[in-house]
Amino acid sequence: MIYRIKQLSSLLILISVINGLSYGSEIKVIYSNDAGRIESLKTIEKDNVSFVSGTELAKLLEAGTFYSEPKKKLDLKFKEWRVKLSAYSSYILMENLSSADRHDDILHLPVPVMPSDNDILIPFNAFMTILDAVMPENLTYDDDLKTLEIRTALVNITGVSIQRKSNGTLIKISTTREFPLDSYRAWINRDLGWLYLTIVNGISDSISIISAPTNGAVVKVVPVQMEESTQLSFKLKGEVENPEIYQTTNPHQIVISLRTPERITRKQVEDDLLRNSERWLIDTIVLDAGHGGKDPGSISASGLKEKDVVLDIVKRIGKLIEKKLKVNVVYTREEDVYVSLEERGKIANRNEGKLFISIHLNSFPKNRNVRGFEVYILRPGKTASAIEVAERENSVLRFDDKSSAEKFEKQATEKLILASLTQAAFMSESEDLSGMLEKELKKKISSPSRGVKQAGFYVLVGASMPHAYIEAGFISNRIEEKNFRSSKYKQKFAEAVYEGVRKFKHKYEQLILSANGRSN
Ligand SMILES: [Zn+2]
Repeated sequence: MIYRIKQLSSLLILISVINGLSYGSEIKVIYSNDAGRIESLKTIEKDNVSFVSGTELAKLLEAGTFYSEPKKKLDLKFKEWRVKLSAYSSYILMENLSSADRHDDILHLPVPVMPSDNDILIPFNAFMTILDAVMPENLTYDDDLKTLEIRTALVNITGVSIQRKSNGTLIKISTTREFPLDSYRAWINRDLGWLYLTIVNGISDSISIISAPTNGAVVKVVPVQMEESTQLSFKLKGEVENPEIYQTTNPHQIVISLRTPERITRKQVEDDLLRNSERWLIDTIVLDAGHGGKDPGSISASGLKEKDVVLDIVKRIGKLIEKKLKVNVVYTREEDVYVSLEERGKIANRNEGKLFISIHLNSFPKNRNVRGFEVYILRPGKTASAIEVAERENSVLRFDDKSSAEKFEKQATEKLILASLTQAAFMSESEDLSGMLEKELKKKISSPSRGVKQAGFYVLVGASMPHAYIEAGFISNRIEEKNFRSSKYKQKFAEAVYEGVRKFKHKYEQLILSANGRSN
C-alpha cells in the first residue's frame, strides 16, 4: 500500500476563520434513482468561495461517516472510496477500496477545509469536481444550475457489529438513513442454520461487513448485493429463537435480537432426578389414540377408519400395562370423541404422565403397495416424507374451532421449537423407547419396519416426558387393512408395544435407582 498521509502534517496550512463568513445560496440535490426525492444544501460564502457542512453533505451523499471532533477530521466512506478531510488542511486523502493494490491518492483543494461547530466546512465546487472525477457514475454537479444529481449507488449500509448478551446475541447494522418498515425483513432457515436479512434499496459496504468480528450465535457474515436490495446472511451456531427486528434513528441502525431459548439442560434433569427419584419412576403411562369423533383420520378404500382401529389397539395396550405392570394408564380418549391436539398434551401433563405413546395409522393412496410401521420421535421434521406425515397428522387442526386453529398456525413453528426444547432433555430416553418399541414390533408382527424416524407433531406439544409416536401401518395397503380388521393381529401389535414399554421401564428405573445409590 502506498501511504502518504504523513505528508499532510507538514503541509498543514492554518488560517483564521473567525471573520468573513456569510450565508450563500442553496444547492438543489436531486436523487435520480429515488423518484421525487429532492433535498437542499446550504452554502456558506467566504472570500467568494462556497463552503458546505461536511456532515450535512455526507448525509445527502449517503456516505458512511466517521467524525473526530478533537482532531476536526471527517472520513466519508463510499462503496469504493474512503475520503479523509481535516480542518485547516487543503489536502484530501483518497483511498481506493476496490482496486487490488488499494492505493491512496492525495488531492489538493484550492483553499483549506475550515473548522466549524462539531463539523467541518468543505469548499464545495472543488470537492465536487474531485468526487465527480472518481465517481462519475454516482453523481454530477452542475455549477450553473447549482444542482447536484445523485444516482444512489452509494453505500447506505455501512457496517455490522455483533454483541453477545447474557440471554442472546444482538446484531446492529449501521445505516446512513431510515428505511421504511416494510423494506426490511429477517428470517431463519433452520435446516441450513442461517439468518437472512434483506433490505430493499440497501447498498452495503461489503468490505466493512465481511470484516466485522463475529460473536455469540453468529459465526460468519456474508453480504450479497443485488440490483434492488442487499442481503446479509449470518451463519448461526447453537439454538436461537426467531429473530426480533427493529430500527433506531439515533444512530441510524437496524437491530436484530436473537434470544437464546431458556431450556432444561440434562444436568438440571439429572440433578432433579437425584433429589427425588420417586417422582421419575414410571408410574403413569399416557396412551393416545389418534383422531376421534368428527375427525376420522385416514379412511381405507373399503371404509375402515383410522380412529376406530387405533382406539382398539390403544385399549388393548392399556389393559396389558394395567394388568401386568400394575401401572396407572391414562387415555387421552376412551371413546369415539374429538379431543383437540392441545388438550391431549394437557391431559398428559395434568396426570403427570411419565411416558407418552401415540398410535396412528399411515395412508398413501397414491401407491397402495407401500406398507410397514414407523416409530417417530418429536423433533422439527428432518426427512421430506417425515414432514409429509407430520403435515397430514397436523391437519387435524382444521377441525378445531377457528380461533384456536388460527392461534396454532401463528404459534405453530415457535411452539414446535419450544416443545422440542422442553423434550430435548428426554431426547435420549425417547430415542431409547422408540428403539425398543421398534425392536419388539419387528419381532412380533408381520408388517415390515420402516424404521425409527424424527418429525414434528403437535400432539406432543406440551407433553414433557419421554415419548414415542407409532404409525402402526398403512390403511391404504390391502394386506395391512385386512390385518387391522383382525382382532388377533391387533392383539399381537398391542403385546409388542407392551413388551417394549416393559423393557424400557425396567432399564430406565434401574438407571434412576442406581444413580441414586439404591440399586439392588
Ligand atoms: Zn393419524
